Amino acid sequence: MVVGLNQSYSEAGEGQKREMDMTRTISAKFTSSCTVCGKTIRPGDQITYDPAIRNSSRHAKCKAFVAPADADAPIRLIYSSSAPAEVGQAFREVTRRGAGRLLTLVAVDSYYISPREAQRREEDFDDFDCQAGYEYTCYCREATAEEAAPVLARETERDAKAAAAAAEKTRMETHIHELSTPPEGWTMIDGAALDYSVSISSENGTENFRESALTLPERESWTLLGEEHGPAPLSVYARLYQVGPYRVLEHGNWDDWRTAIMVPPELREAYLSREVARRGITVESATEWLAKYRGCMGTQIYEFAAGQTQLQEVK
Ligand SMILES: [Zn+2]
Repeated sequence: MVVGLNQSYSEAGEGQKREMDMTRTISAKFTSSCTVCGKTIRPGDQITYDPAIRNSSRHAKCKAFVAPADADAPIRLIYSSSAPAEVGQAFREVTRRGAGRLLTLVAVDSYYISPREAQRREEDFDDFDCQAGYEYTCYCREATAEEAAPVLARETERDAKAAAAAAEKTRMETHIHELSTPPEGWTMIDGAALDYSVSISSENGTENFRESALTLPERESWTLLGEEHGPAPLSVYARLYQVGPYRVLEHGNWDDWRTAIMVPPELREAYLSREVARRGITVESATEWLAKYRGCMGTQIYEFAAGQTQLQEVK
């Protein structure tokens, strides 16, 4: 039942063209959603709708949006999750290519898309991107220098924070690299078994090394030379200790935790000889191993074993 033909007029675009508001206000017959507030319209509620527009029902008390004149807000943008700013405030437009213009939000028209409406758009227009929820039509204009100032200040602060974070990341990575790099002439034995056993799988099965040829003093006596922890969630870290004449590096990245021993130049040969003897490596086995696994963990021990024997053969 038509209660009344609404006689209000609204501005409609350029050239001061006026259009009659053809909406009608009636008692709702069905349950639906209000296009203004999004809440349920129950049978009997006073509603206003435009017979020319499908699904245009709104509560009679929910005021229809009146768009500002084009001269006041020539730019129109659609946002889905929320409006980009408060009305009267400036914001930075985000485009597919990145940061866009600095705009001031003049007015916002929120429109509620019901699940049924979303489904209809999908069926009628193949609009598969349409989700139920609010859609915001934002009426904007270029921001004045004064309006843009707070946005620019926030951006400057954000950029400064990003630059500081990048500098800190570089410093941390550089320090981790420094800690993890053995001094000139030192030998680094990565993955060496200190607190953990090391398993090496080969055709002959799995070899477990519980001990190394190095006897290190108790951990309580280790002296921390330096440590660095990266920012979460990477959990990159390095801790370097002086352990008797050796250095021990504990380093990790995600769930890859390793312990490495750095052997000083004067102890290199003694260490490698003991390790070769302990593992029972022969010329043949070393040569054979290198042919298959050169580059793998243990390469320098096998190279030492092969090289030593070659020296002996030359003699
Ligand atoms: Zn409403």
